[in-house]
Amino acid sequence: VPPLLELSGLRTEFATRDGLVRAVDGVDLRIPPGSTVCLVGESGCGKSVTARSILGLVDPPGHVSGGHIWWQPPGGGERVDLAAYGRTDPRFRRIRGQQISMIFQEPLAALSPMYTVGDQLGEMLRLHRGLTKAEARDEAIALLKRVHIPRPEQRVDEYSFQLSGGMCQRVMIAMALSCSPDLLIADEPTTALDVTIQARILDLIAELQADTGMSVLFITHDLGVVAEIADEVAVMYLGRVVEHGSTEQIFTDPRHPYTHRLLRSVPRLGSGRQRVLPTVRGQVPHGARRPSGCAFHPRCDHAIAGVCDTVDPAALDGGDGHEVACVLYDDALRPDGRTLPLTVVEPEP
Ligand code: SF4
Ligand code: MG
Repeated sequence: VPPLLELSGLRTEFATRDGLVRAVDGVDLRIPPGSTVCLVGESGCGKSVTARSILGLVDPPGHVSGGHIWWQPPGGGERVDLAAYGRTDPRFRRIRGQQISMIFQEPLAALSPMYTVGDQLGEMLRLHRGLTKAEARDEAIALLKRVHIPRPEQRVDEYSFQLSGGMCQRVMIAMALSCSPDLLIADEPTTALDVTIQARILDLIAELQADTGMSVLFITHDLGVVAEIADEVAVMYLGRVVEHGSTEQIFTDPRHPYTHRLLRSVPRLGSGRQRVLPTVRGQVPHGARRPSGCAFHPRCDHAIAGVCDTVDPAALDGGDGHEVACVLYDDALRPDGRTLPLTVVEPEP
């Protein structure tokens, strides 16, 4: 089955005062129909820019500068390269309204305080599906029901500021669903919510995905969230995918040292007392100061002097569809005596 979406060598650059920043630096990613693919990494690694690139939502001074964004329109039409569309190409509007929807981290900011929930949902429905005002209201109520908002007949006439954060995110999801998308891009949709509400929103997305068969590109900095919903995981660091595999491969056999570090910072469920979790040591460097060689080397526990600071490792498939870009996994580059697999360092108590 051809992928619904295929990024190939995607590059998105920003001209900044500090120099050119390649926020997305040659990303390859395939999203098969009906699957959930998670893009994981700390903030500043290019996840959101990748998502925004797909939909033509990168604002100047940023622009897609290379590669392809192959989109397979529903119904088996010829696939199109969205990277070839200009940012203001009207065709993006049709795709955004009918085929690909996106939800964001801050639901409250995305909703207008001036209009009721029903007005905003209704507007989408009238615009994209040509419904009358009365039909749109009924459909809005049905959509609110679908995302499990209690008393939808009443909520439909309320304003976003009358709703909790979790409710607002449900409304955003309802809006995203209003066009029956083939792909839902969810950019940290649960990050601003508390843990219990987060879990309910994840359940909702999983349920809707199972119902509709849509694909989901889920973006998060939290590997804990990934385990719940992903079929496949791509770990992103400084504009590149450094590891990619099935969720099982990533959790049972993590390879890249960065993935190991991200896994260390996942809270253990049922571990009792809350404790401060270790994060990945150091900070993501500014994109204009990309370290030489493997960009992760200044923060890596396994870095080899003279190798990791010079060689830029390519992503290699271990033969099982599990890809990693690290010299330790490259037989041609790995110095003798380095043993694999890496052991996960347990968080300090
Ligand atoms: Fe660490 Fe070297 Fe692998 Fe980069 S290439 S992740 S620095 S061991
Ligand atoms: Mg982001």
